[in-house]
Formats: sequence, C-alpha cells, structure tokens
Amino acid sequence: MSDAQEATKPDEEAPVPQDQSDDSDEGEASGDSEMDFLRSLFSRTLGLGPGEKVLDELTLDGVARYINSGACKNIICMVGAGISTSAGIPDFRSPGTGLYANLQKYNLPYPEAIFQIGYFKTHPEPFFALAKELYPGQFKPTVCHYFIRMLKEKGLLRRCYSQNIDTLERVAGLGDTDLVEAHGTFYTSHCLSFLCRKEYSLEWMKEKIFKDEIPMCDKCSGLVKPDIVFFGENLPARFFTSMTADFPRCDLLIIMGTSLQVQPFASLVGRVPKSAPRLLINMEKTGESDFLGGMLGLGGGLDFDSDKAYRDVAHISTCDEGCLALADLLGWKEELQELVKREHALIDSKNKNEKGGAANENSSATEQTAQGAEAGISEKTE
Ligand SMILES: [Zn+2]
Repeated sequence: MSDAQEATKPDEEAPVPQDQSDDSDEGEASGDSEMDFLRSLFSRTLGLGPGEKVLDELTLDGVARYINSGACKNIICMVGAGISTSAGIPDFRSPGTGLYANLQKYNLPYPEAIFQIGYFKTHPEPFFALAKELYPGQFKPTVCHYFIRMLKEKGLLRRCYSQNIDTLERVAGLGDTDLVEAHGTFYTSHCLSFLCRKEYSLEWMKEKIFKDEIPMCDKCSGLVKPDIVFFGENLPARFFTSMTADFPRCDLLIIMGTSLQVQPFASLVGRVPKSAPRLLINMEKTGESDFLGGMLGLGGGLDFDSDKAYRDVAHISTCDEGCLALADLLGWKEELQELVKREHALIDSKNKNEKGGAANENSSATEQTAQGAEAGISEKTE
C-alpha cells in the first residue's frame, strides 16, 4: 500500500484539476482530461488511431535531434543482460547460454530447478555453488551504464527498468528512485523466515558464498536468499506501481541489451504512448510484433521496417558502441568517456585499498574477468 502511494507521489504534474470542479457541475478541464485519458486508453489498448510522428528520421541521428530539441524529458530505459556482458558478467539465467549445460554436477532434477524457489528452500547448495562460480570478479559498470547515469544527470531519465541482478546500475550511480530492478537484485538479501525477514548486505552474502557456507540468518537461523526473483516468485511490487505511473508519461523509450523474451518485462514496450519513439540498441532486431501477440491483444510490438513504421529505430551494435554513438551525436561523447575513466579509476583504487596490498595472488578467474572488462571498455572508448 505505502509502496503504491510513494510511487505516485512524485507525479505532481498529473492533471487532476480539483480546485476547478464544484460538486454540482463538472469543470471543463476535468472533462477534457477525462476525455484525453479515455482517448489515450482506447488508442493504447485497441491500437486505434495513428501515432504522431515525432522523429524527423528513423535513425540514431533522428533520435539525437529529438533529445536535443528539448521536447523529450521523460526517457525510460529498459535494459537486459546485454548491457553487462562487456563487464564480464555472464547471462545468469537465460537458457541457451551454455550455463545450464554446466549444471550436471549438482544433480538437479532438471536444470531450471536451481532457480526455483521451492527447490531452493530445501536444496540451497547448488544455487550458492553456482553463485560462487559466476560471481563477478569486479563490479565495474560499462559505458552503457554510465550513459544511463548521464541521462539522469541531465534531468532526462524518468526511470531505468532493468532485468539484471548484477547491481551495476547502482555501482554506476543510479539510486533507488531511478531504478526498477524487475528481476530483483543481489544488492540486498533477506531471511526467508516469514516472521523475521532480516535484511543482509551484499558484502555479508559475498563472504558466505566464498566461504562455501549456506547463508543462515543470525537472528532466527532461517535460510537467507539474495533478493533476486526466482521462478515461482512474484516480481517486486515496485515493478507494477512504477510501471503504471511511468509508461504513460514516457516520451522516449530506449531498449538496450535485451531480447525481450521474458514476460511481463517484454510487454512494457507496448505501454508507452503511441507517439513515443522507441530506440533499440542490441546485437539483433527483436521485439517485433508477432501474430500471437497481436491475437492476445499484447500488440505494441516494435516495427522498424514495415511501410507503417513511424517511430521505432533499431541500432544494431553492442550497447557500449550504440551509447557512444548516440552520445557523440548528442555532443556528450567526451563527457561520457571522462565519466567512465574517472569512475573506473575510483573503483580500481577502492579495490586496491580493500585488498590492502596484501595478497597479490588473486584467483586467475577474477583477474581474467576484470581484464576482460577493461579490454572491452577501452576498445570501445578509444
Ligand atoms: Zn531470520
């Protein structure tokens, strides 16, 4: 309840002209906004009415000109695993990444069980063993993460909806209010015991994972689980409350590094107003409407190429390259590169201090991941 109230609080611009409406007759303003609301509701849900063409050209240049025009103030980013791959973070949950093939040693009844809440409660060991194996050597955000931060700093970011659980958005400087972590996060953990629910930090969880200890609550001895959404668990309530408040106000949707396969996340692309341009930065085109989606009224799929295309732009590249190209067109490229350099140096020096210069014999896996991330970044920023 309080969650829902908080989510709607910042939206003061919502047209609710209370002072004008006497009880007896309905104020015109209120009638108008009601009509506007109904019109947009119908056009959204029924796919009626042509959307207004906002971009002068369905290209990255067109998007950049739109942003620079000042008409675009509520950008929503939707991001997935693809924005973190250059940081050396494997796609944790998607089948087909080769990850599931490596799970045999855990004697799972079937591979997906490792992420199923029911199985986890009785057999938590495989999940934590896998978490250790896949634990990123460093939490170093990518060019793309910092591009999103720049959107925030320039007052253009409405919200970033992430499917990732790697916390890199937070490391890059996005805060609680900037972010909706649709599939949860490793950033915090909670005791699963219903009456306790004690919260634990990432550092606490990391220590347990690396000591090969099953994390148990120090208050009630219950099992402690990272706050990532397992199969069989609900998405965070914040996902739904924020979605309702954000998407009708979106004037540019930027979708990056996601194949838009997982619901309900994928359906968000259809929730922006019909006139809002949608930019996809990804290694392949995705999210185009299919027959089944149309039949189920899920509509709103992306349309880059048909003769009706009027607002969707596909930029086929890595997320880092796409963000750099867009930043370049916006005149932000140097600023972005400076930000990445500065932040990475900060993270490096922090890591050095934490290690205390003591043991230089890092696990080779950790080093490799870190170097891989560096190489990926510098390749793209130069
Ligand atoms: Zn507890």
